[in-house]
Amino acid sequence: LFRSEFSVLLTDHKRLAAELARLEPREIVFSDSLRSDKAIDGILEASGIALSPQPASRFDSTAADKRLRDHFGVLAFDGFGAFSRAEIASLGGLLDYILLTQVGKVPHLRIPRKEEGQAGLQIDAATRANLELTRKLSGEKEGSLLSVIDFTVTAAGARLLANRLGQPLNQVAAIEARLDEVSHFEAMPELKDNLRHRLQSMPDLERALGRLTLGRGGPRDLAAIRDGLKCAETIGDLLDINNPLNQLPANLAAARNIIKNLPHHLVQRLDEGLSDSLPILARDGNFVRRGFSADLDSARTLRDDTRQVIADLQTRYAETVGIKNLKIRHNNMIGYFIEVATPNAAALSDEKFEAQFIHRQTIANTTRFTTLELSQLEQRIASAAERALAIELEAFNGFVENVGAERENISNIAAALAALDVASALCELAQSSRYVRPIVDHTRSFKIDGGRHPVVERVLEKRGESAFIANECDLSAQNHRLWLLTGPNMAGKSTFLRQNALIAILAQMGSYVPARSAHIGVVDRLFSRVGAADDLARGRSTFMVEMVETAAILNQATEHSLVILDEIGRGTSTFDGLSIAWATVEHLHETNRCRALFATHYHELTTLAARLDGLHNATVKVREWKGDVIFLHEVTSGVADRSYGIQVAKLAGLPQAVTERAATILSQLEKSEQAFKRKTLVDDLPLFSALQSSPSASSQPKNDEIREMLASARPDELSPRDALAFLYALKAKATEAQ
Ligand code: ADP
Repeated sequence: LFRSEFSVLLTDHKRLAAELARLEPREIVFSDSLRSDKAIDGILEASGIALSPQPASRFDSTAADKRLRDHFGVLAFDGFGAFSRAEIASLGGLLDYILLTQVGKVPHLRIPRKEEGQAGLQIDAATRANLELTRKLSGEKEGSLLSVIDFTVTAAGARLLANRLGQPLNQVAAIEARLDEVSHFEAMPELKDNLRHRLQSMPDLERALGRLTLGRGGPRDLAAIRDGLKCAETIGDLLDINNPLNQLPANLAAARNIIKNLPHHLVQRLDEGLSDSLPILARDGNFVRRGFSADLDSARTLRDDTRQVIADLQTRYAETVGIKNLKIRHNNMIGYFIEVATPNAAALSDEKFEAQFIHRQTIANTTRFTTLELSQLEQRIASAAERALAIELEAFNGFVENVGAERENISNIAAALAALDVASALCELAQSSRYVRPIVDHTRSFKIDGGRHPVVERVLEKRGESAFIANECDLSAQNHRLWLLTGPNMAGKSTFLRQNALIAILAQMGSYVPARSAHIGVVDRLFSRVGAADDLARGRSTFMVEMVETAAILNQATEHSLVILDEIGRGTSTFDGLSIAWATVEHLHETNRCRALFATHYHELTTLAARLDGLHNATVKVREWKGDVIFLHEVTSGVADRSYGIQVAKLAGLPQAVTERAATILSQLEKSEQAFKRKTLVDDLPLFSALQSSPSASSQPKNDEIREMLASARPDELSPRDALAFLYALKAKATEAQ
């Protein structure tokens, strides 16, 4: 409703779903020609977002260019930036849709902006959902990462924080600049407290501005703008007073400068124009301050003090004509009239007054007159209320126009205040929850000392149970970049995996992190495959979902990515699962070469450490005590000795008869385990890298290319000549592949 950002982002098939997940749009307006692209159509349908396909003609780039120029009142669109034909077509198509659906109420659109693709840390939809960034998998917001880190005090700040969490950065300088803001407040706690205190009484500028520009605003929105700007002014002063040396970090200095550029004349005008108590709707009237408009004041005086006005007029007439008992009366038949005793009437009819006093009636002993002034007054009294309201509405429109003229400025101030709220709130979070400033650079480090899971930690704290056990994670060294984590269920594997992913996200959104110290080489893409939930809506089983997500990771992760994989291969038979997990670890290690945490219950995989030099075995410690298992939640080097599945089952309350029987079966199975020769299996399998260079493996990608070429071909749109060229190209690829 109140966002007026108008921007365009080029994307492709691969990233479309992730971008939609990030932006969470309410509605997607698109050219219906996209429907013929199966992949895009599939993504749009699966998004669950309201779809508004439009005829392709609406996205014609020439018409779009003209429409945009007209709307923004410029001769050439280039002034706003270098937009491609495709970008202009999209912006124009969208503008057309807005003009069409919002007739007469077109929102104020900010100047079109080009979003840089890949500008941030890429997080796909599955990872976002799995990590429960802004809401839990079950849908509620409470218990999400956002709910735990949100210490903002304004609605705009809360929106901005959610936005930043949804879009962490990948530029070291930009991340550092945000961290500098938090550090500044950390060094100046009084400034932070004062700022937060003032922000608390800050009205929602952005929202009020949005409502006013959409024609849905009222007098209270005007007051919100006025009060918000006043509040902004005191905040600007606060930043100055507390920083005599002008040592504000860049982002804070930028915010300060925007705030200092306040439209004072608007504040003054609204101050002069608005009453102290205001109705919700303009048409309820009585919101313009007395003294603001002479016309309005007299209209109101007439309306409210009719008697007094008449009495004043009566006194004046009585004095003018020298008749003491001249009266002004009113009846429903003839309205207002002047009445004198008939013997006195002659005075009014004499030469001096006859032009002014017009005879109306003579009854019994009295004679009635009227004057032009009186009948005009009467008319004005009758329409006074109406007029007062009309003048007020005109004044209201004037104020809305005044605000409109400053909307860009006000938007910027609102954004600057929201940014101040976020920075001071992140400082509050850091101090109240013992977070530290991470070191972020271009290396491939990932060294978290004493890391904690922000949400689990808060839950334990609230319950007053045992404290969260902090853990180290170091993927920096080449021989440690892929950790294979084993340990029984409930030991804390998922918690450890997720906490490290969350720390990376927090650091790159510009927040301090829950750790004793953290050094993170900027992550380009974050992938996670954790927790399994059937995607029944899309007709996929748990196993299918898991494989689709794993495929995305193996296809896309780079050397700068961070990958979190939790127990893949669970949803199928043991050997199937083990084989898939095995091949996945090898691929991550050899091909993706990313930093990764891989939790598994296939202890067989730990033997891979002997062969893969970047692999490090880690385990979550447990202690066995009188046949029960005690979870220590401590991550150390090494391999879990056992699964303790039966002990965990016991904790869950499985009947004793069942756990005892299971123990018997387990010992039988363990005896016959020689059948599965783990050790020799590792030694017998050729190296993954060796497999990759073998001819049969290398033909695979070429075949895939052919498939892709075929899938993206549109036979209906090809000329015979192009079709022939296409056939030759296919043939050439096929020959290469052999
Ligand atoms: P796993 O993935 O190994 O089955 P989880 O990560 O789901 O285990 O952890 C199980 C529970 O143990 C969590 O819900 C949490 O309450 C507790 N836990 C996990 N890690 C820690 C820790 N580091 N400190 C304290 N409690 C923890």
